[in-house]
Amino acid sequence: MKVRLVNLGCRSNYFDTEFIACQLRHKGYSVSSEGPADLYVVNTCTVTAEADRSSRQAIYRAKRENPDAIVVVTGCYAQISPGALAKLKEVDLIVGNSEKHRLVEILEDFLEGKGQRVYVENIFRSSRLESFDLVAYFEKARPFLKVQEGCNSFCTFCVIPFARGKVRSVPVERVVAQAKLLAERGFKEIVLTGTQLTQYGQDRGTSLYELLRELLKVREIELIRLSSLHPSEVREDLLELLLWEDRIAPHFHLSLQSGSDRILQLMERGYRVEDYRKLVERIVSTRPISAVGTDLIVGFPSEREEDFAQTCQLLEELPIAYAHIFPYSDRPFTKSSKMAHKVSPSVKRERVQRLKQIEAKKRELFRSANRGRELRAVVIEEGKLLTENYLELKGETQAPVGQLIRVKVE
Ligand code: SF4
Repeated sequence: MKVRLVNLGCRSNYFDTEFIACQLRHKGYSVSSEGPADLYVVNTCTVTAEADRSSRQAIYRAKRENPDAIVVVTGCYAQISPGALAKLKEVDLIVGNSEKHRLVEILEDFLEGKGQRVYVENIFRSSRLESFDLVAYFEKARPFLKVQEGCNSFCTFCVIPFARGKVRSVPVERVVAQAKLLAERGFKEIVLTGTQLTQYGQDRGTSLYELLRELLKVREIELIRLSSLHPSEVREDLLELLLWEDRIAPHFHLSLQSGSDRILQLMERGYRVEDYRKLVERIVSTRPISAVGTDLIVGFPSEREEDFAQTCQLLEELPIAYAHIFPYSDRPFTKSSKMAHKVSPSVKRERVQRLKQIEAKKRELFRSANRGRELRAVVIEEGKLLTENYLELKGETQAPVGQLIRVKVE
């Protein structure tokens, strides 16, 4: 039976898809990422209303490609909205994140005509990371290690804790073992990912700082890159390590979300604009080649023009290298979905455009500030490099994919 895996959303989802692919191959299924198939597994995202729409589009596309195919829907949209998915005639099986680790077992029951259509349990009852730590997911030959899942914060706009549950972390020794395996395979860079990386170890009495200290003992790994960090969870010991340890990539994604203290409070983000400014300025003044990236939400309930203006001004002022910009959308179970003074879609669109213009200028400023600099870069594919501070470059090199080289930015 030919299986097609369709992935939406974040790297954690890509990781989970790779895990399911490994299990399916292990069971003898031919797994492909293109062309019509007999069975589709759609790993969905629900972080925004737009993500729900894209997930449904992927389901319809699968059924159009092969009307006789079996369509299995898993991921965050399945965990949060199984009822909505159950209404779709295109969907045969719904497996939430709570049961994702046994998706192949559930599928085999289904193929034998056994079992039910919907498998979604209370995600907050998930107490451990279900052996997802045995695989690495590769993006252009860059190995990503998912070291934790879930989030213990409940920012008022965010559905992720309801989709991924509370923090569950992979034991330090297993992450280190995985890094050693990747080093033996010749990889020089690894990327640590998860739902909320700075909460790594909260369930195991350890921390991201401790994990990094152990990973830095794997000398063959020359560069460790981190995915998104929560600004108020970067403790002093961790920050010192990020600032002074050369083998930690000078690329820090610190989600700000808004430049207005009033909105940050309504979001329950746990920091003020001044805290964020101090953190970013300390990073860039201590490690000047650092790329600081961020996320910004536009149109949070009751966001006034002056709140938005503060976000624009902060993005202009701070040494930010790039920003991901999202129009706010109500998400199930979140506090903000019940808040009044929703911002109209047209105002949100207009503000997103204005912020994107500023962001484009910041990106160009950061790139031009690096011209003439010599940097470390990983070969991500032939003729394509990614620098330590997250600049994609075109460049001829004899070095094999996955290697770390020095390059002068033109
Ligand atoms: S820190 Fe906030 S925004 Fe990030 S995943 Fe957790 S709840 Fe969502």
